[in-house]
Amino acid sequence: MSRVYNFSAGPAVLPEEVLQEAAAEMMDYKGCGMSVMEMSHRSKVYETIIKEAEQDLRDLMNIPDNYKVLFLQGGASQQFAMIPMNLMKNGVADYIITGQWAKKAYQEAKMYGKANAIASSEDQTYSYIPDCSDLPVSEDADYVYICENNTIYGTKFKELPNTKGKVLVADVSSCFLSEPVDVTKYGVIYGGVQKNIGPAGVVIVIIREDLISEDVLPGTPTMLRYKTHADADSLYNTPPAYGIYICGKVFKWLKNKGGLAAMKEYNEKKAQILYDFLDSSSLFKGTVRKQDRSLMNVPFVTGDKDLDAKFVAEAKAAGFENLKGHRSVGGMRASIYNAMPIEGVEKLVAFMKKFEEENTK
Ligand SMILES: *Cc1c(COP(=O)(O)O)cnc(C)c1O
Repeated sequence: MSRVYNFSAGPAVLPEEVLQEAAAEMMDYKGCGMSVMEMSHRSKVYETIIKEAEQDLRDLMNIPDNYKVLFLQGGASQQFAMIPMNLMKNGVADYIITGQWAKKAYQEAKMYGKANAIASSEDQTYSYIPDCSDLPVSEDADYVYICENNTIYGTKFKELPNTKGKVLVADVSSCFLSEPVDVTKYGVIYGGVQKNIGPAGVVIVIIREDLISEDVLPGTPTMLRYKTHADADSLYNTPPAYGIYICGKVFKWLKNKGGLAAMKEYNEKKAQILYDFLDSSSLFKGTVRKQDRSLMNVPFVTGDKDLDAKFVAEAKAAGFENLKGHRSVGGMRASIYNAMPIEGVEKLVAFMKKFEEENTK
């Protein structure tokens, strides 16, 4: 068996321990004589799997009792519609545009009500987080929306925006469980799990109970109502059962590692190695304003497209996969999620040093 260092932005690297456990349980889950893939989502065995997954997530994030945890499908992108359909009671919402994902959410919301872009960093290719301490938040806004970690551009909100009392909704797809969060500061926290938690196909929504109601926009399909899934404990219909099982294993892995405070420390250590190198390199440069740098997604360039391509190709040949930047920005991007071991980052930096020596005069 030979595994590469996988720097993909998503679907992304998962802990080897989790993959091995899943492999060991593939043919016969705990004496059931079948795989979790094959079992009824209404069985006692599966009930234990999903209940434990929820409890472990609640423990990890310290989620208060007045928040529901929903395991849904449709990816993060489906939330771009579900959020306005369920939360736009006044028909107004404010969006902070810090990248393509936030912009897509904003454009989707415009189909359902009045969506306002109250701040943006598009003027500098989303390479920074705008000052959000005193934004023109709409008086009747139902919520203020952010994408907390911008996967493509490598920026992260280090401080949450001042929403002036309005509900905060956050897409945390690419920073989910990477560090502790104060859930009480949010109305909704959601993310696709394929970046930092599990296999594609599950989206987790953590939503304050008072935001869940039957009062949704006319025409909202049953499946797109939070209430449908909250009332049924995520078992209204068949959930992405196998994906949730893997997520549950990752939650246990995180607990064993010491939880989110320990993860943050580890992630900071990893990111520091890469950023320190970028700051001292004569060839490679980070593309993000320093104070806004993400711990999870690290974009960088050489300033020469051909050299970038050469780097990506040689890195791949050396066992460092998926370092090509997003198609919309070019360059390189190393996604160093929870499951990327520190050795992966150290070896990448050693490889970059060697490449730099060989390609500078
Ligand atoms: C990947 C990503 C999305 C899109 O996720 P899908 O599950 O493919 O819909 C949305 N937001 C962020 C921040 C992402 O990183």
